[in-house]
Amino acid sequence: MNYIFNFLIFTFGTSIVSFLTVIAHEYPHIDPIRRSQCDSCQRTLHWFEIIPIWSYLIAKGNCKTCNKPIDKFYPLTEMVGGLFLLVASLTHQNLTFVTSLFTVLTLLAFSDHFFGYVYLSSYLLFVPIIILNIQHLYFIPALIVYTLLMLLNYLYEGIGSGDIEILTILAILVGFDSILKIILLACFLCLVNFYLTYNSKFRFIPYITISTAIILILR
Ligand SMILES: [Zn+2]
Repeated sequence: MNYIFNFLIFTFGTSIVSFLTVIAHEYPHIDPIRRSQCDSCQRTLHWFEIIPIWSYLIAKGNCKTCNKPIDKFYPLTEMVGGLFLLVASLTHQNLTFVTSLFTVLTLLAFSDHFFGYVYLSSYLLFVPIIILNIQHLYFIPALIVYTLLMLLNYLYEGIGSGDIEILTILAILVGFDSILKIILLACFLCLVNFYLTYNSKFRFIPYITISTAIILILR
């Protein structure tokens, strides 16, 4: 029974990520009945070609029609989403809180990754999470984090205002201790990426999302 439950949780995580990739790609022109297409030849995909991870493995990473490789980004992020929810479930996290926060952050991360910005309106997605956790909010830590980041931004620039706003909202939800760990881990991951790729231009929100996922599981 446990195996079935774990498999369902994993599948749920992969499906959330798969769904969010499409939403982030198409926003604000989302057509809920439009079928997914191959990125290269635009052929409409069958239902069995859009199952997260499995479709990629069955197709051996190539489109059946044009034979062009499918971007590894999709199965990799789906796998990460599935593993994250599975580990969160196995370590007895508050699944409602973790899943909702993970969903909103992943959507913002995709938006930042694809387009380099997030819509201000997408912050509204945090409202239900804040209401659900109304008894465990940390406003003073959030105010401190906001002030410090704004000061840093004033002195050195480079931190995007979107990054500051998201980190402040996160601070309200997770508290001072966790937000400091999230910021440090995100900066560390950026440095690692810089040493590996020598690419100094990067989007920060995907790093915030990965760091939040790790810190939520470890705390
Ligand atoms: Zn194709």
